[in-house]
Amino acid sequence: MEVRLKDGSKFEVLKGESAYDIAKRISEGLARNAVCARVDGKLVDLDMKIEKECDFEIVTTKDKDALIVLRHSTAHVLAEAVKELYPTCKIAIGPANEDGFFYEFDFQNNISEADLEKIENQMKKIIKADEKFSHAVVTRAQALKKMKELQEKYKVELIEAIPEGETITMYSQGNFVDVCRGPHIPRTGMIKAFKLTRIAGAYWKGDEKNKMLTRVYGTAFFSKADLDAYFEMIEEAKKRDHRKIGRELGLFFIDEHAPGMPFYMPNGVTIRNELIKYWREMHKKAGYVEIETPMAMNRKLWEISGHWDHYKENMYTFKVEDEDFAIKPMNCPGGMIYYKENIHSYREFPLRVGELGKVHRHESSGTLHGLFRVRCFTQDDAHIFMLPSQIENEIKNVLTLVEEMYKAFGLTYHLELSTMPENHIGDVKDWELAETSLKNALKKIGKDFVINEGDGAFYGPKIDIHIKDAIGRTWQCGTIQLDMQLPKRFNLEYVAEDGTKKEPIMIHRVIYGSIDRFLGIITENFAGAFPVWLAPVQVKVMNVSEKSEAFVDEVYNKLFDEGIRVEKDVRGEKIGYKIREAVSQKIPYMIIIGEQEAQNKNVSVRKRGTNETVTMSVDEFMKLIKKDIKTKVIW
Ligand SMILES: [Zn+2]
Ligand SMILES: [Zn+2]
Repeated sequence: MEVRLKDGSKFEVLKGESAYDIAKRISEGLARNAVCARVDGKLVDLDMKIEKECDFEIVTTKDKDALIVLRHSTAHVLAEAVKELYPTCKIAIGPANEDGFFYEFDFQNNISEADLEKIENQMKKIIKADEKFSHAVVTRAQALKKMKELQEKYKVELIEAIPEGETITMYSQGNFVDVCRGPHIPRTGMIKAFKLTRIAGAYWKGDEKNKMLTRVYGTAFFSKADLDAYFEMIEEAKKRDHRKIGRELGLFFIDEHAPGMPFYMPNGVTIRNELIKYWREMHKKAGYVEIETPMAMNRKLWEISGHWDHYKENMYTFKVEDEDFAIKPMNCPGGMIYYKENIHSYREFPLRVGELGKVHRHESSGTLHGLFRVRCFTQDDAHIFMLPSQIENEIKNVLTLVEEMYKAFGLTYHLELSTMPENHIGDVKDWELAETSLKNALKKIGKDFVINEGDGAFYGPKIDIHIKDAIGRTWQCGTIQLDMQLPKRFNLEYVAEDGTKKEPIMIHRVIYGSIDRFLGIITENFAGAFPVWLAPVQVKVMNVSEKSEAFVDEVYNKLFDEGIRVEKDVRGEKIGYKIREAVSQKIPYMIIIGEQEAQNKNVSVRKRGTNETVTMSVDEFMKLIKKDIKTKVIW
């Protein structure tokens, strides 16, 4: 029989041949780098036997899913090592996570981070022994019997929760057995580089009524070089932590009286205002109007939007005169009410309505993290109402706007298109039109994009924009979502060309995403050294001695009057001290005024990141800094 390979070609295989054997016949090199296989889009073990015609692909170390499989497999090795060292320990779960993996254990006597090295050494032995991962499909009764025999009570609980009729697989390597969905790497020897990073307490199943278990965290890579690069990045990220820089530069803080709700300090507000000013400029040019909708709206509205039934636990609700209200977790319902206020004609389309709306969402306290995970933030939302024939062009317009706006921050990005999920609402035909329009727009703009089949929201397909920061981390900020549900729920209409009433096509889109989170991201991206147009203080003017104080005032006033964010330092401190302070505040330009400068009416300018001063006239400097601001240059 034949399988279809990724390049579209057919490859003849024997019924029952293993994925690994097929790989070997395709090429020896492919088999050597094979981590697992992808059969009809699903990841499977290499020893999986191919019984029917399918889409077939060997997943090598280069594939982004390969790292997840490697890390999860390393979690099995961790559990094996722990069971060898602490036989009475009970095992719980061991998934891969964002940047590595963890395994949750119930130790009889608690361990500490000092024990990690011992566990690592045991893991190294297992890896050196190159144990084979093998698996068997078992019945629920067999799985339960085995785990009861091993006295693994957490596993027993997990097996009991597996729905009747679902396939259960048991995996083993060496003497270690686990119940797991798989897949795994073929042999433990494939783990070329790993490190255990920390331990932390975690309630079993995340429920605080349950016992506190111990999570051992780690990470793994296919090469030592990749592991080293990762830890270098972590070190760099620590230096750039926006919570640390936020304090040092006076941007924001979070107080125990309002967990997850940032207080912005003057310098932080300056940057936010610049972000918003830029947003308004760009959106005005792109044909958007801006509205503002109420912060709190009543229950009736949230019932129409569906939030009352599906999102209530994340909303802050309260009563006013016996009526239920909720603080908005999203701007969309308000935007729909705005649309309904007037009768619309196809002639107005595309109608682009933006809102910088502050939203509140309840996030559990354990997940809060600086500006990255908060309970209130400002979304740079916009809803675009249009005809089906306008989707393609309008998506292209949004993507052009994204491109221009991200350029100002020196951020590169990639696009991902998520298509119709199994559980979806609406006509398949509508989905096809929507997806084709999104794809065509992406193709027209000439950007590469990744397709995540079946990953769209249940109400429509979406394009996610993932930016890459200065140290290689990616962040999803912008998104463009086509919504086939909300216009229905709110009975939105427009008068079509033929005079009939029709439902408009509607997209939601954000570019910064959350202004707060974006501010956190760029703080880390620039390590606090903001480009001139964003810098809270753009110039600091300082005098060498009292004799030049009058000219400092003159320069300061001139810059201030031209709208430059300028500060002066005329304290009786040594000039070296003043310079060091300005350097630590990451101010783009320092102007140092000594007696000579005061006499010649010149300024000595020192640019951030350099040790030299350049002498020029005040007007020359004014021209220079204004150009930096206007061009949004990054240096
Ligand atoms: Zn597993
Ligand atoms: Zn929306």
